[in-house]
This record gives sequence, C-alpha cells and structure tokens, in this order.
Amino acid sequence: MIQGSVVYLDNNATCAVAPEVLDAMQPFFTTLYGNPSSMHTFGGQVHSYVEEARKKVAALLNAEHEEIVFTSCGTESNNHAIRGVLQALPQKKHFITTKVEHPAVLAVADYLEKNGYMITRLKVDNLGNIDLNELSSAITSDTALVSIMAANNESGTLFPIDEASKICREKGVFFHTDAVQAAGKIPLDVKKMPIDLLSISGHKLHAPKGIGVLFIRKGTPTRPFLLGGHQERNRRAGTENVPYIVGLGKACELALSHISEESEKIRLLRDKLEQGILKAIPFTRINGNPRWRLPNTTNIGFELIEGESILLHLDKARIAASSGSACTSGSLEPSHVLMAMNVPFSYIHGSVRFSFSRYNTEEDVNHVLATLPGIVEKLREISPFYTKEYKEKARNWPL
Ligand code: PLP
Repeated sequence: MIQGSVVYLDNNATCAVAPEVLDAMQPFFTTLYGNPSSMHTFGGQVHSYVEEARKKVAALLNAEHEEIVFTSCGTESNNHAIRGVLQALPQKKHFITTKVEHPAVLAVADYLEKNGYMITRLKVDNLGNIDLNELSSAITSDTALVSIMAANNESGTLFPIDEASKICREKGVFFHTDAVQAAGKIPLDVKKMPIDLLSISGHKLHAPKGIGVLFIRKGTPTRPFLLGGHQERNRRAGTENVPYIVGLGKACELALSHISEESEKIRLLRDKLEQGILKAIPFTRINGNPRWRLPNTTNIGFELIEGESILLHLDKARIAASSGSACTSGSLEPSHVLMAMNVPFSYIHGSVRFSFSRYNTEEDVNHVLATLPGIVEKLREISPFYTKEYKEKARNWPL
C-alpha cells in the first residue's frame, strides 16, 4: 500500500519515487547546486556526480557510459532516436515500427508520413506478438531505422528485440527500442543485443517524472534533437537536470541489484490477482501473451461492461488501476493496442490494466479480490446485454 490508504496498481502509468532515490537527490537542491559545465570546483564537483550517475545507468544496460545521453523523458528519447537517425541519413526515406507502440513513437511516425516518409506499421497477432518474417521482408534498401518496443505498456507483451535487432544488423538497418516499460523490470544487455538506440523514462522505475535516457551506441549516425549548448557531448543541449540525473542513477542501481528477486515477488502477486479474478469473475480473459510478458502487468477483459465504470468503482474503494495507457485514457476510443490484437468487441471496452511495483503487497491483492467481484456483478446487473443465458452460465462458473 502506498501512502497508507491507496492500493496503487497503476505503476505502468507512473510509480512512486523510491525513498533512497529521494535521499540521493536532496543535496543537489540545497548544497550541491552548481552547474556541471562551470569551470570552478563547485561546478566540477557536481559534474562528477552526473558522471557517476551515467555509469549507473550504463550498468543497467551493460552499455558504455559515453553511450548514455540524459533527456527530459521517454517521449523526448523516442523523438530524438527516430528523428535523429532519419536526419542523419537523409537519403533513406523508410521507417518501420509496429501498430502497438506508445504514442511517443506512433505520433512521430504519423508526422514523418506527412513529411514524405514511407512508414511500415507491423501488425500483431491475437496475443500481441509481431511476426519477424514480416519485419524481415519489410526492410528495403530505403529503410533507415526500425523501432520496436521492448515491452508493451498496455498488455505487458514482450517483443523479440533480440532477434529483431539481429535481423536489422544483418540487413544494415539501425534499430531502436522503446524500453520505457522494460527497463528495471527485465534484464537488458546491449552487449548481447545489437540494439543501436534505446529509450528509458525515470518515472517508470522509481525515479521522478521529467528525466529520461537515450542510449546511443557508439558510431550510430544521429543528430541532436534539441539545439543549443554543448552538453551531453553535443548530443542534447540544455543544462543538465542534476538532481533528477542523480536520482535516476540511484534508481538504476537499485533496479539492477534487486531485479531478479523483485520481479519474482511481483510476478507472484500479479499471478495471484489474475488467477483470483479469472476464477471468481465469469466472462473474463487475459489480453496479451500470458507466457511472454512483463512480470508486473496484467490486462484483463471483462465482458459486457465498461472498463471506465469498473475503474470509477475501484477508485471509490481506493484502488487505482487503468483502462489502457494514461495517455489515451480520457478518450472514449478503444485502445489501439487491443484493437490491433483483435480483442473481441464485447471485451475491448471492458478492459482493465493492473500494473504492480516493488511496493505492492499481498494485502493489496486481497483487497482487490474482495472488492472487484461485487463491482462487476453490480455493473452487469444493470447491463441490458446481461441476458438469462449469461446468468445461467455465470452460476456454473468456472465452467
Ligand atoms: N513509451 C512507453 C512504452 C510508455 O509507456 C511511456 C509512458 O507511459 C512513454 C514511452 C513516454 O514516457 P514519458 O512519460 O517519460 O514521456
């Protein structure tokens, strides 16, 4: 339980800043406030903390520290990666991505399309998986870059970025992955995978909102996204956000040192919740790949009811979850991810995502399992689609 009262199960939207991270950041607001680019010792001292943080971020990815560029968020990192490579390779006019990326990639693809680029958006199957043969045959001599996310924010489905990056490397095409949801939750090793660019966002791994990272492998052709000063080896202008950079370094260090035991603990809680829901509540299904997904995410479809209504009732019971990505909720459009996965119409509007963090407990899961079946039952009772046949089947649930 976070803050003693809310069962917070929306960690893919954002998560709590770890107390250790906050402690690490504190001095950089009060005593160590120098500009890391200054010539004097006061600034130079701060510079050394930025470089230490860079090494900690690099360690999470098994990258070289010079390959880490600090940005303001995951969205900036994605924009920088894609637009930077395409600008550096002006003769190539083809960009490949998937239909289920975050808007921070999809909106860039739309923008490029309006500006003369050819875009291939790879489809996914019912479980949210891409087809690597489709990727391979989509690559042409005009392709500059492929961008495929490491893990989907809504379904949690993991993408085969290892194989996809190898295909790209063999064909001489650069490869970017949006690892905003994967970093800190599953191991990532850029020495083992020929990934050229990789995006991270601080607020998805217990650092604050407003800090991100773009890994750029040495030798990758790219252009800066923000023009100005010479910070970040001329790759990202703007005075470094030192407290947040230090915080992100600490968050990466914590994630790296606990990743295996933490992800196992989180997976067990997620599975307990998921199995409890599927067993107790009729007409429910998992959206996404149940085997190959993030340990902290489950996306469950509840037939015949609206996800938003479920969320409102959960909210009253002090349970925070989500009906999709935080960026698209608020619109009544069904999720582009679930639509691309061909989730049946009767489930697509009734889908809820529960996403865990290291701070969730078994008590949280028990509270949801004690609350949710009653909410769903109440909402179905007032649904005109909840016919006698459904009620009959529900009595014999699980079938
Ligand atoms: N990419 C993915 C997969 C995300 O889930 C998000 C945020 O939800 C982003 C990118 C954007 O990150 P930020 O909020 O740091 O801009």
